[in-house]
Amino acid sequence: LTISEQQCQGRTLDLLPEQVHYLRRVLRLAPGSRFIAQDGQGQQWLATLGDKLDQAELEEVQRGGSAIAPFILIAALPKGSGFDAVVRQATEIGVTDIYPVLSQRTLLNPSDSRVSRWQRIAQEASEQSERLTIPEIHPPVSFPALLQQPALASQQYLCVARGEYPHLLTQLQKDLSAAAAVAIAIGPEGGWTPEEIAEAAVKGYQPVSLGSAILRAVTASIVALAIVAAVREP
Ligand code: SAM
Repeated sequence: LTISEQQCQGRTLDLLPEQVHYLRRVLRLAPGSRFIAQDGQGQQWLATLGDKLDQAELEEVQRGGSAIAPFILIAALPKGSGFDAVVRQATEIGVTDIYPVLSQRTLLNPSDSRVSRWQRIAQEASEQSERLTIPEIHPPVSFPALLQQPALASQQYLCVARGEYPHLLTQLQKDLSAAAAVAIAIGPEGGWTPEEIAEAAVKGYQPVSLGSAILRAVTASIVALAIVAAVREP
């Protein structure tokens, strides 16, 4: 459960009505049951539900502060609701940041409500996979504008579906120190344009392959992140 500082008085947690509903009705927890509460910034508590319906007692189990090396997904927005699955699964895999981008072949310009929806999905997925931190969903940005920003990570890769590029895994094994910050960029269903690949290369994005199969954009995000996560795991 994600909680905020304002809900805590000493070791007592005042639960919000929707949290009471979730714990009591959805998870069917009884007084005395334990659950994990977290602040989304790396701090975690073991909470015990009290006899009063809307309170729990907190016991600290982990303090925030140990910085995680950035693990960044940059993904061109697909049509429809495909990005919901990307946000959910990327969160489970452990990304720290997601940048939705508008590329030359992206049609969609999402509303603000979509962005808050993705942030909610990231929060739910963090709770479900017992992460200590919630990834940040950045506001959608055009790909050229993103490339104008200072480099997001020391290792940056652009996944390109066709062409003679090294496999992401081979490249990571050459480049990656355990603590390296990594950014992975996935294109839209129509692929990156040659200009986008060239501009990204100038900004330090190494073009890489994920193998000979042409994956749907949503699948490609998950495959690429799983490869990075496997190499980064201690
Ligand atoms: N229509 C595009 C083409 O023919 O080049 C394919 C685009 S693919 C459906 C969507 C995105 O997933 C690509 O831009 C790329 O980032 C990623 N992708 C899919 N398969 C890939 C692969 N085998 N290697 C690298 N990236 C891949």
